[in-house]
Amino acid sequence: MSVMARIVKVAAGFVAGWQVLELLGEGGFLLRPPGAASEADLLARCVRCGKCALACPYHVVKAAPSVMGEHAGTPCIEAREGACRLCEDFPCVAACPTGALRDIAERSDVRMGVAVIDRELCIALRGMRCEVCYRVCPLKDEAVTIKYSLREGDDRHAVFEPVIHSDACVGCGLCVERCVISDPAVAIRIEPAGASPHA
Ligand code: SF4
Ligand code: SF4
Ligand code: SF4
Repeated sequence: MSVMARIVKVAAGFVAGWQVLELLGEGGFLLRPPGAASEADLLARCVRCGKCALACPYHVVKAAPSVMGEHAGTPCIEAREGACRLCEDFPCVAACPTGALRDIAERSDVRMGVAVIDRELCIALRGMRCEVCYRVCPLKDEAVTIKYSLREGDDRHAVFEPVIHSDACVGCGLCVERCVISDPAVAIRIEPAGASPHA
């Protein structure tokens, strides 16, 4: 192999690895488009045709890269780069020929995952006004509400804390896409539904 070919190979491996890191959530969780019954069901039914990705008007559905083994070619969403917009008619689901994505009548039926706020990173919990995640949520006042309380040791200033309701959050990831904090990590993430306790 020529030096140039080796450089290209190493660079490709680095890019692929980076892509994987961008895609994987907590515990190796991949955010799937709406309508996947479970990870096992999606892996069994998906024929890696890419029709859901082609149908998505927002181009947020990507094929998992080839280095991802059994996940390679399956549809996933990197919420920080582009979250699911919960289209009224779910073109991704309609385009799926195998039923790997299915059974979505309305937005509230979607269960892609559930949002979890990092209490160390969220600036609202440190007394700053933000509420961006609350304002962008398509299920505002159901999936996320704002809890008001006085700051500890301060009877004049309030804390406006976003609270996720796991029974209503659909895991679309819009809150992740828009969160104002990114360093050292985004202050809100999507986890598998039912994976952790929520308010
Ligand atoms: S619901 Fe719309 S935005 Fe979301 S993945 Fe499907 S086609 Fe894309
Ligand atoms: S993932 Fe975020 S934006 Fe989407 S429903 Fe849940 S709280 Fe709202
Ligand atoms: S957008 Fe991010 S920093 Fe702002 S309140 Fe929501 S989780 Fe906290």
